[in-house]
Amino acid sequence: MSAAPPIYLDYAATTPVDPRVAAAMAGCLTLEGDFGNASSTHAFGRAAAARIERARSQVAGLIGAGAGEIVFTSGATESNNLAILGVARANADRGRHLVTARTEHKAVLDPCKRLEKEGFSVTYLTPDASGIVTPTAVAAALRPGTQLVSLMGVNNEIGVVQDIGAIGALCRERGVAFHSDCAQAAGKLPLDVAALPVDFLSFTAHKLYGPKGVGALYVRESARGLLQPVTFGGGQEHGLRPGTLATHQIVGFGAACEIAAAELPAEGARLSALRDRLWSLLGMLGGVHLNGAGAPRVPGILNVSFEGVEGESLVGALKELAVSTGAACNSASAEASYVLRALGRDALLAGCSLRLSLGRSTRAAEVDAAAAAITREVTRLRALSPASGVAQVLELASQGEAGTVVSGEAGGPSEETWVRFHLLIEGDTVKDARVQAFGCPHTLDVAGWLCQELRGRTRAALPPGRPADWAASRSVPVEKLGRLLVIEDALRECLLQWP
Ligand SMILES: *Cc1c(COP(=O)(O)O)cnc(C)c1O
Repeated sequence: MSAAPPIYLDYAATTPVDPRVAAAMAGCLTLEGDFGNASSTHAFGRAAAARIERARSQVAGLIGAGAGEIVFTSGATESNNLAILGVARANADRGRHLVTARTEHKAVLDPCKRLEKEGFSVTYLTPDASGIVTPTAVAAALRPGTQLVSLMGVNNEIGVVQDIGAIGALCRERGVAFHSDCAQAAGKLPLDVAALPVDFLSFTAHKLYGPKGVGALYVRESARGLLQPVTFGGGQEHGLRPGTLATHQIVGFGAACEIAAAELPAEGARLSALRDRLWSLLGMLGGVHLNGAGAPRVPGILNVSFEGVEGESLVGALKELAVSTGAACNSASAEASYVLRALGRDALLAGCSLRLSLGRSTRAAEVDAAAAAITREVTRLRALSPASGVAQVLELASQGEAGTVVSGEAGGPSEETWVRFHLLIEGDTVKDARVQAFGCPHTLDVAGWLCQELRGRTRAALPPGRPADWAASRSVPVEKLGRLLVIEDALRECLLQWP
């Protein structure tokens, strides 16, 4: 990394380990530390087991659970798999229907798809335009054979908070088990399973300043009989998740939960204020949409869509920021976010979306710098967009005494690439050239570079080479070559317009 590392605004993807957590973990690794196998009956094993049981209480404490209701896993993915596969398979003789939502994490959707292959049927609810799944919609989806409802506490892309209290209450009333993926909620919002009617709740250490590779499934004492394991072995964790317990991971998870619980009230208020500051700065751009607007949202996540900007170009230009985009950007490689699509956002209208997620080390100065960088790049890219054409033609025309401006375009505003050239011609020579473009960074680069190449050329010397030559000159990967054909088409269109 260069002198100034990017500003990290991707805390919803993962968080750095808190130094206090790292110190606790370091005490469980070496010969001098508590490295033993918690299943061993000698002193080393007992020391490890004691540390694990303390961590279990810390983890349980974050959500108001009893220590005996915590099953350690490798993370929220495994917790979701255990809850969904484990409950569905254990109760298949009583019914084979599950209810979830299209906006869930893949770690919920994929086990549901697996169950469909095993003969279960799954209802995927569509949320309203703000991302909320209403208890009414859940109630309407329940049928006599419904075994499990799985709905997340906080959406990982847009930060919308579901009313899992109301949904859990109606599940309980109808005798249906309720699981919630709370990977983005735990440590960010107060959770208390003594008051929340959830039977199973997944969370993970690395979203709350603990290490990667450890998480938990809360299993309500009274619901344990509904669950069967998906792996088999040494009998640990009530036989629900066998395998040698990862002392250092679990101890780190425990420390992280204790810190998160203590800091939650102040940190929640601080992050909400920073998130709102970021939104008010970005909103000044115009043509910016807040995803999840109108719904309650978790403090640290802001998801915004920018009109008139292509996703990959925006992200490629924002080198000073580490933000999440991929899934949310409309480019050939990354499919448009299924979460935003489920809210009814048209892939192209959404243009490009950024998830900006703030965390423990985010300060106001970073928020301001991020807003300034995004404003700068969105403005720059919009200046190239279809809306800016007239200004460019006027600028060109004002330079030519005897010259004429010819324009040619290709691609479409509703396609992934659109290019329009304006050439100032005098006699049979190109005096000057401008381009407008909407597309990937390579398209913008090659189109801009060609403007220089075009200057001074005669009509006979056009176009200057073929897309394959341009790709070689500008190091364009082969898979992007197709987009350069749109540039070539726009130039050919100029030649057709040449008087
Ligand atoms: C991160 C995340 C997961 C996956 O958690 P891992 O611990 O990385 O397996 C699942 N669900 C949601 C909502 C998440 O944000």
